[in-house]
Amino acid sequence: MTDAILPYGRQTIDDDDIAAVAEALRGDFLTTGPTVERFEQAFAEAVGARHAVACANGTAALHLAMLALKVQPGEAVIAPSITFLATANCARYVGADVIFADVDPASGLMTPATLKAAIGKLAGRRLRAVLPVHLRGDACDLPELEKLAYQHRAVLVEDAPHALGTTAKFGNVAETIGDARHSAMATFSFHPVKTIATGEGGMVTTGDPKLAERLRLLRSHGMVRPPKADLWWYEMPEPGFNYRLPDILCALGLSQLAKLPRFAERRRALAGAYREALAPLAPIVRQAAQPAYSDPVLHLMTVLIDFAAAGTSRREVVEALKAEGVLTQVHYIPVHRQSYYRGLYGEQDLPGADAWYAKCLSLPLYPGMADEDVGRVVAALKAALRL
Ligand SMILES: *Cc1c(COP(=O)(O)O)cnc(C)c1O
Repeated sequence: MTDAILPYGRQTIDDDDIAAVAEALRGDFLTTGPTVERFEQAFAEAVGARHAVACANGTAALHLAMLALKVQPGEAVIAPSITFLATANCARYVGADVIFADVDPASGLMTPATLKAAIGKLAGRRLRAVLPVHLRGDACDLPELEKLAYQHRAVLVEDAPHALGTTAKFGNVAETIGDARHSAMATFSFHPVKTIATGEGGMVTTGDPKLAERLRLLRSHGMVRPPKADLWWYEMPEPGFNYRLPDILCALGLSQLAKLPRFAERRRALAGAYREALAPLAPIVRQAAQPAYSDPVLHLMTVLIDFAAAGTSRREVVEALKAEGVLTQVHYIPVHRQSYYRGLYGEQDLPGADAWYAKCLSLPLYPGMADEDVGRVVAALKAALRL
């Protein structure tokens, strides 16, 4: 299968996943049914959170988090510039301003220093939330980010779709990303490239029962059924959305979640193989810097490439790799460079984000890859860089 095309990421769906969906289809509930709660409970347990609320996708999870916190128009939310669009957009959905934080150009992560700099740009606006992104699967420095947010009476909302399975050791305490120990909430996505897949799907975890209740309300139109009311009765204290995750997809999610240990082990093994195979390509190719406290299950195999020093360009390398059946992706184009945000906030100088963007490239990484595939990717990269 050496000619097979290697995407940068893809789902692993087995026969038992298909059987789980088929069973849900034969059941009484295609949407809101008992599997939703089962998936939520299993997910909460897997990441060590008190509550988990399933929703339509990772973007809806972020939107629900902003709504649950009652973030108001004109207030401020800080997001790193190196992330997917949705991390910033969720603030705009509720009329809040996005302040883009720079990132460490070696790790791509928002750091206490870059958060401090972003807080310096509040210009009188009230800071409500800081959204750390555990880029590619490496954890952000949550205790320090939390301290900084707390000084402004703001909370962390972790955008964690890359970091399902990641653990981090802050001091002597080992924590699982998603346990929401340092944050008000953490959000996940089950898009097919993510660590577990439901097609579309998302989750919000929290330790706060009031936030969990609000999230449940807001994902289903804001409808409340008071306990002693008539059987047909419902009330709507505030409008919500239809952001539910159907029973069918929760059945798939449950089945996928049971495989998380296996997926994580496979991702760790492949990342280890990449580390070894890429070492001789230094200093032209380096792995994204892993913080000492982070023990990641990598979602993305992101490398930093000095294209200029290799006498080539990213475009040439991406196309040469594609010709060999190796598909890559760039994570990410700095969000502050998007025309919408340029129009809204003007040009901004975030040198760490620009430096990261200039060099980053994500190589194929997913549990279905064979060991030989790593060698094939690295050989193709070496040839493309004429090393
Ligand atoms: C995938 C992703 C999202 C959005 O998730 P969807 O399920 O595609 O809506 C948001 N943030 C990050 C960092 C992501 O990787």
